[in-house]
Parts: sequence; C-alpha cells; structure tokens
Amino acid sequence: MNKKVIQSKTVTRAPIVVIMGHIDHGKSTLLDHIRKSNIVASEAGGITQAVSAYEVSEPYKITFIDTPGHAAFCGMRGRCAEIADIAVLIVSAEDGVKPQTVEALKAIHQSEIPFIVAINKIDRPTANIERTKQQLAEIEVLVEGYGGTIPVVMLSAKTGENISDLLEMINLVAELEDFQMDPKLPGEGVVLETNLCPKTGVAATLIIKNGTVNLGDWLVATSPNEGGTLAKIKRLNNFLGQAELKLSASSPAQVIGWNEPPTVGATFKTYRNKKDAEQAMMEAKNGSARGSTLGILKVEPRAPNAIEIPILIKAAVAGSLDAMEHEINKLSTAVVGLKIIQRDVGQVTENDVKLAAGSSRSSGDSRDSLILGFNVKIDKSAAELAEKLGVKIVTDEIIYKLSEWLEIEIAHRTPTQEIEQSLGRAKLLKIFGDSKGKQIIGGAVTEGHIVDSKLFKIWRRETEIGRGKITELQQQKIKVKEVPQDSQFGALVEAKVTLAAGDMLEVFDLVTK
Ligand code: GDP
Repeated sequence: MNKKVIQSKTVTRAPIVVIMGHIDHGKSTLLDHIRKSNIVASEAGGITQAVSAYEVSEPYKITFIDTPGHAAFCGMRGRCAEIADIAVLIVSAEDGVKPQTVEALKAIHQSEIPFIVAINKIDRPTANIERTKQQLAEIEVLVEGYGGTIPVVMLSAKTGENISDLLEMINLVAELEDFQMDPKLPGEGVVLETNLCPKTGVAATLIIKNGTVNLGDWLVATSPNEGGTLAKIKRLNNFLGQAELKLSASSPAQVIGWNEPPTVGATFKTYRNKKDAEQAMMEAKNGSARGSTLGILKVEPRAPNAIEIPILIKAAVAGSLDAMEHEINKLSTAVVGLKIIQRDVGQVTENDVKLAAGSSRSSGDSRDSLILGFNVKIDKSAAELAEKLGVKIVTDEIIYKLSEWLEIEIAHRTPTQEIEQSLGRAKLLKIFGDSKGKQIIGGAVTEGHIVDSKLFKIWRRETEIGRGKITELQQQKIKVKEVPQDSQFGALVEAKVTLAAGDMLEVFDLVTK
C-alpha cells in the first residue's frame, strides 16, 4: 500500500501564558484589562460566555489561560508546563511577597518555564517597588536592575499603566524561546475546563499545544488513573464561542460532542477516524489501572456496581486544595470511590454546581455529586441551583470537619446489605391444622431462642424447603414474645409450605450492615 509521506514542517506559534501569584495581587484584574483592551472591539462583545482562555492578537499574538482557579491548576504537580509556555508572577507592590507568591514560584520552577515578574498596583500611594524587589531577592528572584536577569515590569492592572510593556516583554521572551508547532499533525493538548451547557451538553475548553483540531475529528482525552473520554467533534468553537472548521496550536478550543465529561488536566489527541480513536481509548483503559496523577484519586479496582462520588473541591487558597485532596484521598473505600472532578480556588459558583451535576456518572442522578468548600462562601445563585438539582454543597473552615462530614456521607452511600442472623432452631412436634390461612403448630426449641414476628427457614431432612413467618407465639396458651431453649411452644405461622411433624424451623433476624 502506498502511504503518502507528509513532510513535517514546523512554524512558530503564539506563546501560552499563565498569570500566577498571591490572592488579591491582581491576577483577575490584569487578565480582565488585557482582555478588554487587546481584543479587537468587534470581537469583544462575544466574550461573555465562560471560556477559560483567550487569545490576544494585537499587538502580538498571545494566548492567556484565564480559569478562576488557574493558579491552583498549575500548582498541580507541575501540570502548568504542559499548558503554559511562559508564566507571569504577579506581586502587589503594596503587600510584597506572600505565601502564595512562593508557592507559585515553586510551581513555575517545577514546570521549568520562563517567567516574568509583574510588580502590580504601582498606582497605589502605599506601593513600594524597592521593598518588593528586595523581598523578591530574598526568595532568590533577582530581577533585572536588581542584581539579576529575570524580566520585570512595574504596572497597574487597574489603570492599565505599563501593561503594554508586559505584552512587549512576553513577546520578547516568546521570540527568544521560539515555540514551534506542526499544523499538519493531529491536534494535541490539555483539557482546561469542562462546562455543562443545557442545550449542547458537555463542552470542554482545550488548549491546543501542537497540530490542528478539525471539526468532525475524533478526540480522546486521557488521564492515567482514569482511562479515556471520547468526543466526536460535533462543534468546534473558538474562544469567542464562534464556530470554526479547524483550530491550531496555541488556540483555545471549545469542543462539543463528548460521551462524558473529560477530566480537567487530561491530555488529548485527535484522530481522523473512529477506529483509531477507539484503539486509543482501549490503550488508555488498559493503562489506567497503573498509577495516578493530577488530582485524580487512586482508587482500587472496583466491582462494576461500586459507587463513585464525583467531588468538586474549592478553597480560598491554592495550597489548601492539596491538603483537601490529601484528606479526601484517605477516605475512599473499596465500595465507594471518591473522584475529584475539579479543584479550584474561589467561591462556590453556579458553574461549579452545573459541573458537579453533570458529573454524576454512576447513576445519572445529580444527587450523587458533592461540592466541598474549605474557607469559601457559596454564591447565592449557586446555592439556589444546587437546591434545585440536588447537589450537596458543604463548606467549613476546618478541614477535618469536612472529612468527618464526608465520612458520614460515604457511610450513607454505602449500600446496605441484609444479613440473615440465625436466632434459634425449633423442632415441630405436632400440626394442629389451619386457621384463616395460618398454620397452627406445636414444637420445642432445640437451640438458641425463637422470637415472635420473625422469619424462619423450613428444613426437612437437611434441605431448605421454604420460608415462613411467626405471627403469634404462645407458651401454655399465653402469648409470649420469645421462647427460650429446651422449652415447648405453640405458634401461628404463615408459610406456603404445609408443615409436618419432624420439620426443623430455623428462626432468623434480618440485620442491615
Ligand atoms: P486576584 O485575586 O489576584 O485575582 O486579584 P484581583 O484581580 O481580584 O484584585 C484584588 C483587588 O485588588 C481588587 O479589588 C482589584 O480591584 C485590586 N487591584 C488589582 N490590581 C490593582 C492595581 O493595579 N491597582 C489598584 N489600585 N488596585 C488593584
């Protein structure tokens, strides 16, 4: 068979940028400002829907990752490196270096991506740029002009002052790094966010890191402990929500057509035909028994009817997410598996509730999903929607209280098993006939005791021939609740089998465990 040889030809692609830093240091304000000022006005009207990344084309092509929890997301085991090419470490000139600044720096170092420091809030009278640079030096971030080479921009995300310098700097770093892609290759990248759309079902936002994603392609998203999720791309949207026939690296893409929601952080690849995609799904499934990554819990292989609780976790700060995950990890049982579908910093929002509701896979009932929040508030609209969809949201300021609550919830969700607990055995001595469909019997307790209203098995020559229920128990013609061993009794019983002298009754209790 002749195979067409496709010549690989790489071209420069736009840098993908993530902004990281301590809470309140201005990440959202900066992202908002760039989005509003640097996306062509005619397009800007369309950016109301929740897509978690956007592309700037003027003056330079740059993709910004813009998830509310992007810092937490990137903090996850260096996952940032698979998505972002460049990080902007934002530090408020008022507050200086804070714990999450250090945490963000750690994630950047782990990812081994270049970074630029943005000293923000310089419009504030209490801003102190020198002190901030000094504090940065103390954590070994030596910026340009302060004994080091790390690019730095002093700006105000609020007024927009010097934001153009930051974009210039990002472009400069990108030119130096020269990020490449091959548009002829199948699309590859990472799942950034999943949303549940009432009209179209699951929509996932992806960042394409190489190749081209085409409308109609098959797409497989895999994460090691999870197996894969499959999509036939029925609709391909750009970050503005506009339909496209194809999108290439480094664009964000919204894909509709999933069989089930993919996991945030999963890597994806596209295929031109179904067979190849299914093959990839098989391989992912086989590989999924090994190891775990990225906030996905290691759950022992489970029986097919085992229960899985999808959990969305929210915390005020990124560092707490790891602690929460650690606690949750400990609670999975052989029967009830816990699966973190998303981890994010910030309040519990309506979107969280939609995502949680859309992730109830085991029964398709939104009552399955949970949202656990540590030190966060719940948006009013989120609480209302959760009430309507039956999604449970629990928040607390103490992590172990959340664990305690979850433990009780797991116990509730663990299916109860009815166990037959034998109470005693009795030998039938005489049958007195029937009364209103009930048989009147006389016997003696040979083991344990027998109790009124309990069920019994009927044994005839070592074989169980049926079951029945005691409806009245008597001793010397007096109604009793219970008859002990070695005592005789009379009883009214219900049973389909006609009892005979010599039968053994094994009386038992049903205990739920
Ligand atoms: P995030 O938590 O890092 O996303 O921080 P936000 O962008 O939400 O900013 C926190 C607060 O700081 C908000 O009230 C912003 O309006 C304010 N803020 C952010 N950047 C600036 C700035 O450059 N100057 C001033 N004066 N305020 C800012």
